Amino acid sequence: MDAPLTVAVVGSGPSGFYAAGALLDQTGLDVRVDMYERLATPWGLVRAGVAPDHPKIKSVSSVYAATAAHESFRFFGNVHVGGPGIGDVTREELTARYDAVIYTVGAQTDRALGIPGEELPGSVAAVDFVGWYNGHPDFTRLDFDLSCRRAVVIGAGNVALDVARILCSPHERLARTDIADHALEALRKSSIEEVVVVGRRGPAQVAFTTPELKELPEYTGSGVDVLPDEVTAVAADEESLPRAVKRNLLIMRGYAAGDTPLGPRHISLRFLRSPVEILGTDRVEQIVLGRNRLRVGDDGWVSAEDTGERETWDTGLVLRAVGYRGLPIEGLPFDERKAVIPHDGGRVRDAEREYVAGWIKRGPTGIIGTNKKCAVETVTRLLADLDNGALRRHEGDRYAEIEPWLAERQPRLVTEQGWQLIDAAEQSAGEPHGRPRVKFTDREQLLDVALRRA
Ligand SMILES: Cc1cc2nc3c(=O)[nH]c(=O)nc-3n(C[C@H](O)[C@H](O)[C@H](O)COP(=O)(O)OP(=O)(O)OC[C@H]3O[C@@H](n4cnc5c(N)ncnc54)[C@H](O)[C@@H]3O)c2cc1C
Repeated sequence: MDAPLTVAVVGSGPSGFYAAGALLDQTGLDVRVDMYERLATPWGLVRAGVAPDHPKIKSVSSVYAATAAHESFRFFGNVHVGGPGIGDVTREELTARYDAVIYTVGAQTDRALGIPGEELPGSVAAVDFVGWYNGHPDFTRLDFDLSCRRAVVIGAGNVALDVARILCSPHERLARTDIADHALEALRKSSIEEVVVVGRRGPAQVAFTTPELKELPEYTGSGVDVLPDEVTAVAADEESLPRAVKRNLLIMRGYAAGDTPLGPRHISLRFLRSPVEILGTDRVEQIVLGRNRLRVGDDGWVSAEDTGERETWDTGLVLRAVGYRGLPIEGLPFDERKAVIPHDGGRVRDAEREYVAGWIKRGPTGIIGTNKKCAVETVTRLLADLDNGALRRHEGDRYAEIEPWLAERQPRLVTEQGWQLIDAAEQSAGEPHGRPRVKFTDREQLLDVALRRA
């Protein structure tokens, strides 16, 4: 009998689980999927990115749990593929053992603004702030000074709105979520009264989605400060704008009209401004913004053009939410400009048995569901390669050797069972407080629970 097809999936976010699910759903294919994850916990940004006050979105994890329950699936947590630590494994070790490897490692870092003063304390990446309030162990020890009255968030996408909303949400609301306890405590003591979200183009060009824009008053208990003249006459022919843009404009015009009064802690939206410089002696004290005008190119693309006019605002916290950025994997090609691994339909360019899906394949765009289509495309390519001989299986059956090899390489391996222990402990800690879970945020503590040392 033929040995089963063996596939390693590196990264346990949505794209990893959708790739695993697509493989395990194939009828007539004997396949084994092993998922490698550098953390002790699965689900990628569904656990560590999606805002804690959006539990419905996080419930997609039940789909991943169903995949993880498949008898041909194994979870190997606390293994950093290509990482520098003890217990980490190399790319070559995986390709020597598996017929195929799919990288679904996401976009692990942030894009910089590239302006003077960006390195000052108090100027931070949304990636770090989001990781901190979501209890990602890499960011647990960060400390954000929330003693200023105004925070400025650069960026006009949903991550900017998440960050602003969390900074403005009443304590009682956050206390019912799975926000990390250290963040809950720090936010309770916050002195921030205003969070200004700054977009470089106009209100018709923002990347906010309508539900996220619309929910702000309900979630923060305050109106949203929008300047009426910034949301009137935003395009020559407004009727021709896409429906989603028109819906957003309607909401922002309602905010500008003061439909809901402003509370003591509120979000402001400002448009047509770009950060030029961050000022301060030992830490952020002010931000200089350039005023922009819109310019419509021959191709219809609307860009922001500097008018030369400047504004200076007082602030103690500048958060940049201008995009996540993928990191290269040593030995694989990397497109520096787009920060993705180049591929043909999901197969890594010039590689034989390596594939990509999710944010490392197409960049940090789309919603969670977008990763499903993306992962299915990759799996379809992998299976086609298998059929046409572009992907040649290893000789013999190497599957049985994998777990003993890995257990030796990583004595602190977190299996699916280990994750179940973490999951159960977190959920039962949350239950008495009406919270979905209380997260463990320290790597050693997570390992203690998973390996039954706690
Ligand atoms: C702040 C934020 C909020 C969001 N909110 C929403 C929302 O409300 N709704 C929505 O639809 N979408 C939302 N998204 C988008 C959504 O989270 C992404 O589309 C999705 O998570 C991308 O999936 P991925 O699998 O490509 O990457 P990730 O989810 O980032 O998963 C990658 C995984 O790979 C692991 N990994 C990385 N490198 C290695 C390695 N070398 N070895 C082993 N493991 C590794 C990581 O630890 C991680 O677990 C949000 C994104 C962000 C950043």
